[in-house]
Amino acid sequence: MSYKHGKPGRSRTTLKSPETASQGQLSDTKDTLGKKFTLGKTFTLGKNSVLGKKPRGKKPAGDRPPSSALWASEAAQIADAAPGLVGVAARAPAASGIVTVRPGWTCDLSAIDPNADGGLDKEKAKEALIAERARIKALQERLYAEHQRSLLVVFQAIDTGGKDGTIRNVFEGVNPQGCRVWSFKVPSSEERDHDFLWRYHAKAPARGMIGVFNRSHYEDVLVVRVKDLVPDTVWRARYGLINDFERMLTVSGTTVLKFFLHISKDEQKERLEARIAEPEKHWKFDAADLVERKSWDAYQAAFTDALTHCSTPEAPWHVVPANRKWFRNLVIARTIADTLEAMDPRFPEAQPGVSEMKVPD
Ligand code: AMP
Ligand code: MG
Repeated sequence: MSYKHGKPGRSRTTLKSPETASQGQLSDTKDTLGKKFTLGKTFTLGKNSVLGKKPRGKKPAGDRPPSSALWASEAAQIADAAPGLVGVAARAPAASGIVTVRPGWTCDLSAIDPNADGGLDKEKAKEALIAERARIKALQERLYAEHQRSLLVVFQAIDTGGKDGTIRNVFEGVNPQGCRVWSFKVPSSEERDHDFLWRYHAKAPARGMIGVFNRSHYEDVLVVRVKDLVPDTVWRARYGLINDFERMLTVSGTTVLKFFLHISKDEQKERLEARIAEPEKHWKFDAADLVERKSWDAYQAAFTDALTHCSTPEAPWHVVPANRKWFRNLVIARTIADTLEAMDPRFPEAQPGVSEMKVPD
């Protein structure tokens, strides 16, 4: 299925729905929050409801579809009002082995095997990664030269989930001038004095750039929720606000690609033990991670809800089985390369007569 908009005779934008993306085991289970709450100002969710379905019982006042469902028609209106602004949401299905969360479904992480490797051979996968990196590099040059649109790649995972390793492996060889990586830590006092999206918006990629978020605006519905840093009503309202933020970025020319690195609790134990046992990994060890590990279940619940409520047609979540690093690297690199290819960045037209020009002595 695809969403099309634009008037006949005008160039059309096609948004591929995640229904065309890779299929996975997603189940229609209960919301982990288990109680009624409001997603931003746009949608009220009932106890057993799933985004995209009407809550049972009394229709809540001001009930509207989730904001993502409005995307196609709103984008069409914006395109009519400001031609040339939209045309940017090209998106490719995720590489085989990744589970794309479809809007309207509840993501059940326990149904996705973190050990999955697609039956691939490790050595062949490492070779294939080199080829995917070359594709990313070539397409990035076009994106930079075109200077019209941008790509934002978001990585979220539990501690030791592999965000740093993925970035190192996938973006190796990419021109640093066209790519910026931002890691988000505990907010500074200045950042805390602004709205929660302020620091992320400031780092969103400029035209022509690939931006990489190592942690992101999702921390504000993850760690903030697990550690009870703000009242429930505050973080619950953020799902809708995040969807609106990502839709705004998309409409403004940024394709938003979100990866959740899915590891098992046993794998985290092994990775933490390696950080203790191997001196060259000591710098990575943070005793705070041992404390956070005790909240494993609370984090899984928070991830589940973020993935469920913030998978929209323009920016669905991709769940990556991430116990096997070589598999994780390959499927993420392939998805990024496919997405850039779908965006189809073009070198700008040459100045007229350039090939006849002579350089003076
Ligand atoms: P690391 O990524 O291991 O360097 O750790 C960064 C730390 O910052 C993690 O413990 C995150 O949970 C924390 N962090 C990131 N964003 C936020 C946020 N918005 N509020 C509170 N803590 C955060
Ligand atoms: Mg850490």
